[in-house]
Amino acid sequence: MPKLDFLLNDIKELKDSGLYNTIRALQSANSPWVTIDGKKLLNLSSNNYLGLASHPEMIKAAKDAIDKYGVGAGAVRSIAGTMDLHLKLEDALARFKGRQACIAFQSGFVANAGVIPAVIRKEDVIFSDELNHASVIDGCRLSKAPILRYKHNDMADLERIIKENLNYERKYIITDGVFSMDGDIADLKSVAALGEKYNCVTMVDDAHGEGVLGKGGRGVVNYFGLGERIDIEVGTLSKAFGCAGGFVAGRKELIEWLKQRGRPFLFSNALSPSEAAGCLKAIELLEKSEDLVNRLWDNSKYFKSAMKESGFDIGISQTPITPIMLGEAGVAHGMSKRLYEEGVFAMALGYPTVPKGKARIRCMLSAGHTKNDLNYGIERFVKIGKEFKVIE
Ligand SMILES: *Cc1c(COP(=O)(O)O)cnc(C)c1O
Repeated sequence: MPKLDFLLNDIKELKDSGLYNTIRALQSANSPWVTIDGKKLLNLSSNNYLGLASHPEMIKAAKDAIDKYGVGAGAVRSIAGTMDLHLKLEDALARFKGRQACIAFQSGFVANAGVIPAVIRKEDVIFSDELNHASVIDGCRLSKAPILRYKHNDMADLERIIKENLNYERKYIITDGVFSMDGDIADLKSVAALGEKYNCVTMVDDAHGEGVLGKGGRGVVNYFGLGERIDIEVGTLSKAFGCAGGFVAGRKELIEWLKQRGRPFLFSNALSPSEAAGCLKAIELLEKSEDLVNRLWDNSKYFKSAMKESGFDIGISQTPITPIMLGEAGVAHGMSKRLYEEGVFAMALGYPTVPKGKARIRCMLSAGHTKNDLNYGIERFVKIGKEFKVIE
């Protein structure tokens, strides 16, 4: 018998319990409208918050970089893969985030898997929000330090756990800035204050805050005006920035250390030149104008208030992430399927991505949507919400 046959059973179990994820293939750019199975659909599933993934100036910057530097960086950063383009990108990111220095990684996931075990030792302790992103959790596991989870965004619980563990010499508080399933924002002011009170290093993963929150999209630390009071900022270049890649920003000693001891930096090829150039252009566009960020917020306010007025439960989001709360996974998957038939691409999320009984369709708004696009989506949601008796 072939050795991996047990996977066939595991897959069957997923399918039998309704947890199997069918992945749709786009035949177009990940724009406000996408083509799937030859059909055009309104895209409410993308993290392309600002429409930069297919922005003409971004495409041109990436193409120019390919002409000059080729398609691949050719080596890991520490050997021969660092191009002046990567250094320019890091300078631009540090400036944009208002930090001393920055290091780019191949993705946001990789940035977490790089920085956390490079800095945190197994004799240290980590206080981690229970809803932190998978890549934060994996990064923490790689450090081998004990991971003590506090209740989601519950600062009293965080303080209680810190007080019980004051014997550790080095303590870390790690939280997402914006939580991707509900769209709520971490109480980062209190995190910073607790970090100061109990001498804990503070780290935020700002993947859904970059390009969205703060002045001109400078992120959650800027939004709360915390500056250096948050010690380590992790970010992604694959959401609002429209490309791929991740980064860590903070004091120059931190970045210098990561260039010596960040394993993905040392052992995995550099970002491709076109990705680095695209990200660089994204920062330039954001520094030049706040229009895209403002349009994103206009669109999300418009969509959210229309959906709420139509009777949908849109949860507790404070950001353009708009979950349509539906309860049972069957309803969410059924509605998502009907929306697809009606020309709207909006993904259902159920257990284990979200808790049991809290299934939803998560709508992601973009600066690239027009009011007509949003009306199209709202009308279809209302029609299908009535079919499923979710609204009257
Ligand atoms: C999306 C996301 C990541 C991963 O970013 P990639 O660049 O896609 O690897 C990391 N952390 C959080 C909180 C995210 O939402």
